[in-house]
Amino acid sequence: MARRKKVYEGKAKILYEGPEPGTLVQYFKDDATAYNAQKKAVFEGKGVLNNRLSEFFMVGLAGIGVPTHFIKRINMREQLIRMVEIIPLEVVVRNFAAGSMSTRLGIPEGTALPRPIVEFYYKDDALNDPLVTEEHAVAFGWASQQDLDDIVGLALRVNDFLSGVMMGVGIRLVDFKIEIGRVWENDFPRLIIADEISPDSCRLWDIKTGQKLDKDVFRRDLGDLSDAYTEVARRLGVLPSNVTHATKPTLIN
Ligand code: UDP
Repeated sequence: MARRKKVYEGKAKILYEGPEPGTLVQYFKDDATAYNAQKKAVFEGKGVLNNRLSEFFMVGLAGIGVPTHFIKRINMREQLIRMVEIIPLEVVVRNFAAGSMSTRLGIPEGTALPRPIVEFYYKDDALNDPLVTEEHAVAFGWASQQDLDDIVGLALRVNDFLSGVMMGVGIRLVDFKIEIGRVWENDFPRLIIADEISPDSCRLWDIKTGQKLDKDVFRRDLGDLSDAYTEVARRLGVLPSNVTHATKPTLIN
């Protein structure tokens, strides 16, 4: 079989040319990076878990009418997605203070915010993804004001959906990051959720114990990342309850 053409390789995923025009194959690696890739490790099974979890969230979002890039899962580590033009903004929604917001504003981690707060970070590793305002995004042509209004609407719908799903399994959605892509349908642009939604890009705390079940486990050396992600997947019913470690996860179809 001819080797597929690699289109892009990022820190945690690889994109290959898809079988049809306008499609890509997204491959989830086991690599974990933090602090702009200054800290790196490999967690066996993480890619399999994130492939399945991102599918779970994207399919759920489609079910409530939020458009996403997800088409179908291909195998344990790969999914077919729509090719998009990525808007160069990381869109973060926060329900509780944590991470960079706590550092920047001196708000203790875990403080409930008066309402969900949407932030934009300019996607540029060389600049360390700086926090930017809507003014910057419009002035520099990264997105139009209409795009930004639509993005905030999408981000808040994703927040409502994810918060509810997580609360149902005893997990607090502290914050998360999404990326947005533009697709063209009959010459009309449309914004859809792209990239991935997984514990790599969310903060998830057990509601009762406060235990962290997300990438902070790796960032802050709190244990095995695959164990934490397996727990999230198990609670969501994505893995059977008898799987306790992610080295050889069994998938439910
Ligand atoms: N996040 C992400 N990718 C990034 C930066 C942040 O997925 O490049 C996620 C992060 O996991 C958290 C949220 O966005 O769920 C907010 O991150 P924050 O700004 O607090 O930065 P951090 O403390 O992760 O550096």
